[in-house]
Amino acid sequence: MTKQERYTYILNYFEKNVGLAETELNYKNPFELIVAVSLSAQCTDKRVNLTTPKLFHDYSTAEALANASSDTIFNYIRSISYPNNKAKNLVGMAKMLVNDFNSQIPNNVDDLVKLPGVGRKTANVIASVIFNQPTMAVDTHVFRVSNRIGLTTNAKTPLQSELQLIKFIPKEIVPKAHHWLILHGRYTCVARAPKCTECGLTAYCKYFEKEFFKQNKTQIITPLSKTKIMVKKALAKKIATKSRVEAKPVKKIATKKSVTKSTVPEKKKVSSASSTLKKATTKVLATIKKTVAKPKFVNHSTKLKVGNKAPVFEAKDQHGNLITSKSLLGKTIVLYFYPKDDTPGCTATACSLRDEYKFLSKNNYVVLGVSADDEKSHAKFAKKYNLPFSLLADTDLKIMKAYDVWGLKQFMGKIYDGIIRTTFVINEKGMIKSIVKSVDTANHAKQILE
Ligand code: SF4
Repeated sequence: MTKQERYTYILNYFEKNVGLAETELNYKNPFELIVAVSLSAQCTDKRVNLTTPKLFHDYSTAEALANASSDTIFNYIRSISYPNNKAKNLVGMAKMLVNDFNSQIPNNVDDLVKLPGVGRKTANVIASVIFNQPTMAVDTHVFRVSNRIGLTTNAKTPLQSELQLIKFIPKEIVPKAHHWLILHGRYTCVARAPKCTECGLTAYCKYFEKEFFKQNKTQIITPLSKTKIMVKKALAKKIATKSRVEAKPVKKIATKKSVTKSTVPEKKKVSSASSTLKKATTKVLATIKKTVAKPKFVNHSTKLKVGNKAPVFEAKDQHGNLITSKSLLGKTIVLYFYPKDDTPGCTATACSLRDEYKFLSKNNYVVLGVSADDEKSHAKFAKKYNLPFSLLADTDLKIMKAYDVWGLKQFMGKIYDGIIRTTFVINEKGMIKSIVKSVDTANHAKQILE
C-alpha cells in the first residue's frame, strides 16, 4: 500500500465516522482560546474548562490580564499543572499582546511563537482554529496515533511528525484532521492500552499488526492466536494438496521432446494455486483480526483497602536521611509510588506535588515519593526539578511489596513485573485514608486534595 493510499483510506474513515471535529476547550474569542490552549499544555481540556470561566470573567481582555500580577493569576489556575510557570507566561503574553501587537492575536505562526508560553503547538492551534490556516499542531495524541497508523514514519519529534502530515493531508482538511487524530488518541487509541477491538482502523494499523499480534502470539495464548494457528495449518495443508493435484496431469503429458515446454506451465500452475490460497489466508486472517476480541489484561492492583492499618516502612531518602513511618505519626502522609525517576509521567506527578507543596505542608501533609531507584538517582531527579520533598530509595522493593504495588503490568504491549503507580494517603493515626489507583500524573496534587 502506498503512503497516499493509506492517507486516503484513513482520512475517509474519519470523514465518514467522525465528520465535524472541534477543539473541546471552551472559548468565546481568540484571546480566550490562546489563554485556554496555553493552559492545556500537560493538562486535560476538562480541567482547563473548569478553571477558565472565572479567569475569563475577571480578566476578559489582554489589557486586563497584562495589569494583573502572576501571583493573582496563580490563584485562579492553581488546580492546573505547572501553575507557577503558566501564570507568569499568561501575564507576559498579555503584556506583549498589548505592547507589540495592539492587543490583537497575531495571525501567523512566526509572530505567535514570540509570545511567552506559546510554543509551536499552541501557535499552530491558534492559526488553524482561529485563522483556518493549514497548520498541524502535533500534541501527544497526534504524535502517537500518526506513528501507530503509519501516517508518519520514524518521526522522532513533533516537528518531524508535523512536516510529514502536512505533506500528505489536503490543505483544506488539515484543521479537521488535527482534531480527528486528537479525538482518536484521546478516546480510542489511548497511550497505554489502545482499544483496538473498538477501532475501525485495525486493517491499516501498523501498531496493531506488529504489537498486538506479536503480543498475543508470544505472551498469551488467546482464542485469536489459537484460531490463527489452526487456520494457517489447515490452509498450508490445502496448499500442499492442491499443488500436488495440479502438478500431476502436467507430469503425465510431459514427454522427452516436450520436457522444456511442459515444466513451465507446471511451475506456473503450482505458484498460481499457492498465491490464490495465500490470498485466501490473508483474507481469513483479516476477518479474524476484526472479529475476535482481545482478552483484556488488567494490571495488578493493591489489595490494601481504605481503613486498613498502613504498613510501617523505613527507607533512606535522596539526602541519606532515614525516613520512618513511626516518626511521621500525627501527620497526613501522601505516600506515592512511581515507576522511575525522570521519566515523563513520574516527572509530571512530582512537579504537580511540588507546585502544591506549600499548600500541602501548611495543611499538615508530608509528601513521600517511593520508587526502586537508588539514593543517587533520587538526588539527581530531585535537584533537576527542585523537588522539596523526600524520595525514598526502595531498592529491595520492601515498601512496594508491603503496600502490594509490585506486580504484573502491561506497558506498550509488554507484560512484566513492575511498580504499579498508586498513591496512599495515610492519616495522622497511621490508617489508610484514601488510595488513588488511577493517577492523573499532571494533576495529581489536585486529585489527592479532592
Ligand atoms: S488499531 Fe489499535 S493501535 Fe491501531 S489505531 Fe486503532 S486503537 Fe490505535
